[in-house]
Amino acid sequence: MSSVTYSSTRGGQKKLDFRTVVMQGLAHDRGLFVPDEIPTVSAEELAAWRDLSYPDLSVQIFRKFVKEDQVPLSVLKDIIHRSCAAFRHPDVTPVIQVNGHAVLELFHGPTLAFKDVALQMLGNFFEYFLDTGSNGGQLTVLGATSGDTGSAAIAGLRGKRGVSCIILYPHGRVSHRQELQMITVPDENVFAVAVKDATFDDCQDFVKASFNTPAFRDKVHLGAVNSINWCRVLAQTTYYYWSYFRVTSSNAETASFSVPTGNFGDILAGFYSKQMGLPVDKLVVATNENDILHRFFTTGKYERESIQETISPSMDICVSSNFERYLFWLTGNDPAKLKQWMTDFEKTNVLSVSPAQLRQAQGDFFSSRVNTDETIRVIGEYHKSHNYLLCPHSAVGVKAIHNLKLVSPRMVCLATADQGKFPDAVRRAVQDPPTPTEIQVLEKLPIRRFELSKDLKKVQNFVESRVSGNKKSFVSEHSLLLTAIAVSVLAVALQMRKR
Ligand SMILES: *Cc1c(COP(=O)(O)O)cnc(C)c1O
Repeated sequence: MSSVTYSSTRGGQKKLDFRTVVMQGLAHDRGLFVPDEIPTVSAEELAAWRDLSYPDLSVQIFRKFVKEDQVPLSVLKDIIHRSCAAFRHPDVTPVIQVNGHAVLELFHGPTLAFKDVALQMLGNFFEYFLDTGSNGGQLTVLGATSGDTGSAAIAGLRGKRGVSCIILYPHGRVSHRQELQMITVPDENVFAVAVKDATFDDCQDFVKASFNTPAFRDKVHLGAVNSINWCRVLAQTTYYYWSYFRVTSSNAETASFSVPTGNFGDILAGFYSKQMGLPVDKLVVATNENDILHRFFTTGKYERESIQETISPSMDICVSSNFERYLFWLTGNDPAKLKQWMTDFEKTNVLSVSPAQLRQAQGDFFSSRVNTDETIRVIGEYHKSHNYLLCPHSAVGVKAIHNLKLVSPRMVCLATADQGKFPDAVRRAVQDPPTPTEIQVLEKLPIRRFELSKDLKKVQNFVESRVSGNKKSFVSEHSLLLTAIAVSVLAVALQMRKR
């Protein structure tokens, strides 16, 4: 049996294998890779999966998409088990009941946010594919971050063979704790770069400009880890299955999910899980004031507006990069139609679907918009009445099910970050929220941090010198080791002579 293949939503690339779509990320025609068919899960399989451990369940789901022709089973198992071992909780993503509904805690990974689930896997897949010949064995990941993604990418890529990871962030504009998570990583293949006098958009522009400079891009083997990578979506399906089994007692029951949404990558994994046959009832898209998706599911009009800064910054987006995959599905998997939609949208900033398509979309997703005041109030209430601290993103998802009157023990609210990552927001609701020990220890670690001025050429020179410098440093590390061995041999010899 061979693995599922992938094509671009815009029709420019067809029938690519898993390795290619993971290494490439975005299609050359700027479309997103979607599976050519979605594997189904039988009732017998679903029954057999109920009692599996998280990593074993994850292996079974990956096996549906990725067969021996792409990744040997023993390697796949090793990659998944190692990725899960980076989590501090034995359940990886534990499920608890609070105030009459379930909460799926996705924040027990290295950077205390849900992006760890997928980025730990992605880092290990990159390493395996580079080791076995992809990209000439070398990959330079260049990313821009306003906080969460950068630290999770660094945690996923640190120390990986063949990978250099350079993350740009606006100097003075990411929170102290998020910066600490990036600059306390000692690995030599990681470069957290504060760009002076820059905004997040400036950093993002440097990344885009670098991708649009073919000579530079090819010279340093540039790649990206943004949320459109198919591997991330696939990795995230596991916790929909996992939490489904925790909140139901048999596969005759359904479960629903409420997801704090920005780029639509997290909830998309829930949508694909349902397509595969997981008994999902409702999927709730919960947004903050950046509500393009809520407006779409209400009116059928997908319209870009400017970004508003909120207390749930990881959901502050003006367009949702993963939504194209769902729009493609709405066209009936028609790349010509989708391409026309996206081309028009890029020109006019508006896209409208037919009344029939809107009905379909409203059948697939519920939605709710939750503003800052409501978010703060929910954090306060849950703390006071249920002794449970929500992060501002998770609070948006929780408030959405109250708005929609969908509270039930089989409604799973995805908790996407630890409250300790957002102390300023949480303090608006709760006095003296605790600082997690994982964050306290960062204050004492040595710092590895780089600074550049806001200049594309300087950024690209930095990348070039570090990427080649990185290769050299393996050599110098090697010779350092040899020197160390020589010195200790000498020391032993001297000791023996003394006697
Ligand atoms: C990225 C992120 C989200 C949004 O997830 P999407 O996949 O972009 O919809 C929500 N909460 C937190 C904490 C995040 O880091």
